[in-house]
Formats: sequence, C-alpha cells, structure tokens
Amino acid sequence: QLSPETPADHIFRSKLPDIPISNHLPLHTYCFENLPSLSDKPCLISGSSGKIYSFSETHLIAQKTAAGLSKLGIQKGDAIMILLHNCAEFVFAFMGASMIGAVSTTANPFYTSKEIFKQSKAARAKLIITQSQYVDKLKDTNNNNDGVENFPKIGEDFKVITIDDPPENCLDFSVLSEANENEIPQVTIHPDDPVALPFSSGTTGLPKGVVLTHKSLITSVAQQVDGENPNLYLTHEDVVLCVLPLFHIYSLNSVLLWSLRAGAAVLLMQKFEIGTLLELIQRHKVSVAAVVPPLVVLLAKNPVVAQFDLSSIRVVLSGAAPLGKELEDALRGRVPQAVLGQGYGMTEAGPVLSMCLGFAKQPFPTKSGSCGTVVRNAELKVIDPETGCSLGYNQPGEICIRGSQIMKGYLNDGVATAATIDVEGWLHTGDIGYVDEDDEIFIVDRVKEIIKFKGFQVPPAELESLLISHPSIADAAVVPQKDEVAGEVPVAFVVRSNGFELTEEAVKEFIAKQVVYYKRLHKVHFVHAIPKSPSGKILRKDLRAKLAAAAPN
Ligand code: ATP
Ligand code: MG
Repeated sequence: QLSPETPADHIFRSKLPDIPISNHLPLHTYCFENLPSLSDKPCLISGSSGKIYSFSETHLIAQKTAAGLSKLGIQKGDAIMILLHNCAEFVFAFMGASMIGAVSTTANPFYTSKEIFKQSKAARAKLIITQSQYVDKLKDTNNNNDGVENFPKIGEDFKVITIDDPPENCLDFSVLSEANENEIPQVTIHPDDPVALPFSSGTTGLPKGVVLTHKSLITSVAQQVDGENPNLYLTHEDVVLCVLPLFHIYSLNSVLLWSLRAGAAVLLMQKFEIGTLLELIQRHKVSVAAVVPPLVVLLAKNPVVAQFDLSSIRVVLSGAAPLGKELEDALRGRVPQAVLGQGYGMTEAGPVLSMCLGFAKQPFPTKSGSCGTVVRNAELKVIDPETGCSLGYNQPGEICIRGSQIMKGYLNDGVATAATIDVEGWLHTGDIGYVDEDDEIFIVDRVKEIIKFKGFQVPPAELESLLISHPSIADAAVVPQKDEVAGEVPVAFVVRSNGFELTEEAVKEFIAKQVVYYKRLHKVHFVHAIPKSPSGKILRKDLRAKLAAAAPN
C-alpha cells in the first residue's frame, strides 16, 4: 500500500538491488526451504553438552513439538510463552509453534514473577515452557493485598512445561518432543498472521509488546541473507555464535532464523561467561560472531582474550546499541582477520533497518562507526523531528523506515501503533542519525536521550564512546543532570579499569580537550558497574533516577 510520496521526500535505499522475497510462505517453510540439501549438516550445537542436532533432526523435533502443542490444545492463533535461556528446546518450541500457526512470546527467565505475569497476560499465553528452577515464579504468590493480580493456578488456566525434571503439576518437554509428527493439524497460515510477540528492551520505559507476522520476519531475514549477493553472506561451513539471548529479537532473527535459512550451524550458549565463551569460539571454530557493545568492550579490553585462538572468526556483527569508532578500532586489534561492522535494529522494525555491506558476498568498503546501509527491499528517510520534512545527506534527523518487514503493530495498543507508523506506512524510530554520501548510516542517539545544554544538543553516546577509549576506563555512561542555568548538563558515570588510578579532573580534562565547550562533563561519578539490559543497552533511565534521588530538593 505504498502511497505517492511528497515530491520533497529524499529516500535512501540499499546499494544492493531489490530481490524477490518468498514472504507468502509460512516462516518455518521459508526457514527450512533448503532442508533437502542440508539434512545431515549440523544445525544446533549445544555449548554446554556438545550435543549436535542436524538440520533434519531439528526439523523433525520441531514437527513433533508442533504435534505435541496441538495435542495439548494449542490452536492456530493461540500464544505460548518461551521462558528459556538459549537452548535447543527454545528453537523446537518456536518453530513448532509456527508450524501450527501459533504465536510465541519470548521472555527473560530472570524476570520477576510480576514481569512474567504481565507479559504472559498481555500475550494471553496458554502455555509456558521454562526450566524447573523458574516454576516458582509462575505460582500465585498469595500477596494479593498489593492490588496486583497474580498468576492463576498452573494446570487449570495455563499449562507449564519444563525442559528438565518437571515439578508438581508441570509436564516434561518430552510430551512435545516425542509426539507423533504425523499428527500435526492442517492449518492455513496467512502471511499477515502473527508468529512472534517479542517485547522491546524497556530501555526508555516499560517494554512494549510487538506483533511480528510470518511476512515481516521472512522479509527481514531475506533482506539480510537472501539473493545472489546477500547483504550478509553465510555458508554451510559457518558456525554462528549464539550467546545473545534468543528471547530478544536481535538473536532470534539475526542469529537463529538467518542461520536456519542459510544453512549455517548455531552454537548455543546458555549462559554468558567470558572464559567459556572464548573457549567455545576456539573449540568450535566460530566464524560469525553476533555481539553487542558491552561484549565488544570485554573482547577489546579484557587481557584474557589474548590467551585464546580467535582466528576462525571472519565476521563480527555488533548491534542493539551505539558502538563508537574508537571501540570498533580497539576490537580490530584482537581479530585483525575479521570484517567488523554493525547492524541497526529495533524490535518494531522487524527488527533490522540497516546492515554493514562489508558482510556482503561481494563486499563494499565501509567506515568504522557506521551502522551499515539500509537493507534491500526497503526505504529509509531522515526527517526533521520538528517539521517532519525529509532531509538529505549528512543532515541528522529522525530515522524512518518503510517496508514489509516492519511490525503489524504494538500488542493491544492501537494508539501507540498509530503514533509510531504513519498513514504512509513509515515507522518512526525515535532515533537520531544521518546518512553520509556513501549511503552509510550513523546513529547519533535517541531523540529522547539527547542532552540539551542551553540550545545545544549533546548526544551521550558520543561522550560514552570517547570515555571508553581511555585506557584506564573500563566502562562509562553519560546522562543529563538538571541545571538552573543551562537546563541540562552532561554528567558521567565511570568504571575504572582494574588497578588504575583516575581522578574526576583527569576524566573531565580528557573529554574537554576533544569536544566543543558545551559537551564538556560537569561531574564524574565513579561506580563499580554500569546498569545494562540483557540485550546490551545502557539503562540511562536508572542512572537518571539515581541522580534525581541524590539531588537536593
Ligand atoms: P524500549 O523501546 O522498550 O525503550 P529499546 O528501544 O532499547 O527499548 P529494542 O527494540 O531492543 O528496545 O532496541 C532498539 C533500539 O536500540 C533502537 O531504537 C536504537 O536506539 C538502538 N540500537 C539498535 N542498534 C543500534 C546500533 N547499531 N547503533 C545505535 N543504536 C542502536
Ligand atoms: Mg524502542
């Protein structure tokens, strides 16, 4: 439903030509389309047990899971919740649900009982798949006197399945994985039917439920890995690192779904630990590593990294949060043989908006610090947040994207959907960025996070990137502090590297000599850690709250 653009609209497109995309198919059919040529190739590798599932085993167990879900009463359009760390059962459940037209909502097992309940209620989940250690969170905690609703009874209103020894009233995952694959009900799946209900990271507020359809996810995966010259070229020999949580859309789409589609093996890491991670990369000869900036900080700065052989890595993709040029360059020293680049995603955008063209089969030259170029089969524009007018090259403004990959809408929230996707089909990201003359996208920061010093704009991400480049700084975050004269001033939270002395004055001066006067730091707080979400974002809202709590009234 592309409507005619206003003639003034400046639209950016990929340097790669559009391709035909099979987004009329159901997601599982698309992902397993190349199964006949892949059958015995490794598909899923469990990092903890070393167990390997071939493509045909993975497909078969997903089919059995589909039949098992159906036998438990899950029908087309019903939702299940996957409350798991990365593991093979996550994959079987997600693909199995797709096969019967059901929808998966994925959540962090570390969430509190209330957070899980809120999400499962919003998604109307009829069944939750988890580990036995988390089942207590799914029980009515009997503290109803706080006025907040709690879970109904397990087994009566919803079912719980555990992938390990099931506690009372719960079922074992084998009721799914050992069901008869010939008993999958016949369902007709429409491209606009939902298949996934991921939630945004909750970086700026409460996490928002996002409806992604078969068509949106297929389009997004195809934009990345399909075509004669795929934007991200994967082969059957690749081993892709899956350490980022699959409950977040980044890893679900841009690790799992793409690997299934392209025939690459997925190395599943259940729990992050730097030594284990490096050991697994070395042992399984990981060739493609999908990471987030906090992991880049570790890989670039932690001395232990030097003790491992990382020479198998040919691609490092970073996404989910800003990665400055300084940090990208520091990582290059650790994996000189690899192509480093970024993707830029947002749950609502399906999720990928742009991807580094250095990852293409016939790669393009790219610059450090860029988030890649808009994906193919999509349109991107940059608008003046005040006037809504579209801007040309090198002019920062709000990034908007249009294409079949974007969400159908927010879950149960038509008002928020209408505020985000305009009548012409443009999704407004809330991110400020610009496109340079080589069509590379640079994210400045979120509209809401930009610090306003008098009339001047100070993007915290820029200062964070400079701070991190200091050898005695292990991590940093920058937030605004209210100021009577300037309105807001930038202040920093800094984690010193082990064993390093560093004064507030030294930090301020380090920044002051690199930036214009209004970007200078007004205060430096030394802390032990920067709060981050599991999807790799700095939780600046927590730091702002900390400042507000400390401020005298
Ligand atoms: P919420 O919307 O709940 O506050 P969130 O926006 O962090 O949380 P996600 O959908 O997981 O939830 O993240 C999308 C955001 O992450 C983007 O809007 C952008 O701000 C940021 N982001 C993603 N990739 C990059 C990147 N490569 N560089 C800079 N920022 C990025
Ligand atoms: Mg967001």
